[in-house]
Amino acid sequence: MPEKTNIITLDGPSGVGKSTISRRIAAQLGYTYLDTGAMYRAVGFYLKTQSVDIDNFENVSACLGDITIRLLPARDEISDAGVILNGRDISDRIRTPEISMLASRVSTIPAVRMKLTEMQRQIGAEGRVVAEGRDTGTVVFPEAAHKFFLDADIRERAHRRIRQMRLTGAAVDEREVFEMIQKRDRDDSERSIAPLKKAEDALLIDTTGLTIEEVCSEILHNIES
Ligand code: C5P
Repeated sequence: MPEKTNIITLDGPSGVGKSTISRRIAAQLGYTYLDTGAMYRAVGFYLKTQSVDIDNFENVSACLGDITIRLLPARDEISDAGVILNGRDISDRIRTPEISMLASRVSTIPAVRMKLTEMQRQIGAEGRVVAEGRDTGTVVFPEAAHKFFLDADIRERAHRRIRQMRLTGAAVDEREVFEMIQKRDRDDSERSIAPLKKAEDALLIDTTGLTIEEVCSEILHNIES
């Protein structure tokens, strides 16, 4: 386990701003940004393209050995982390609503969580990492010195996601976005293995009504003090 002070975790539900905030914190501190959700997305993408039945846990477990995932640093503060799956750049293919839902489904499979948690710990072993996801403070890096749990009103999270999707030029069905966030919240919080949950020693920040800058400065202030 790396030195405690070298790992910062940010967990929370979908659309709460974790990625943008984690990237900024990592850039400011000169740390590596670890987007654990991108790994679940990559596995979902792989299983879909190989036509593996996600509900058949045995088949899924059997093909996990064929998957290699490499994360690329985000190009800048506003871009998502890049993802290389088995040597192929899939960065532009995994941020769709379909892959979000698939990622959420594969994340309930114990063998998938075991493999990805192990990969995340290997990255964390280098130290100086800002990890974001659902279980980074509770399961992946329980020893991390700085843990944050971000939350926000679901209507605001849906609006943020809708704005983000519009920026990319995607067609947006507002009701659908809201319902998908609601479903992912429920599935991620209610699953039996590594559910979305605030670590007891994490600082809860309600980001409703706060700007990205305000949240970042609260986090940095907390780390420094
Ligand atoms: O954070 P992101 O939206 O990219 O995550 C996609 C999905 O991956 C989440 O809805 C969740 O089901 C799963 N996930 C997880 N544990 C993590 C990160 C993501 O279960 N640490």
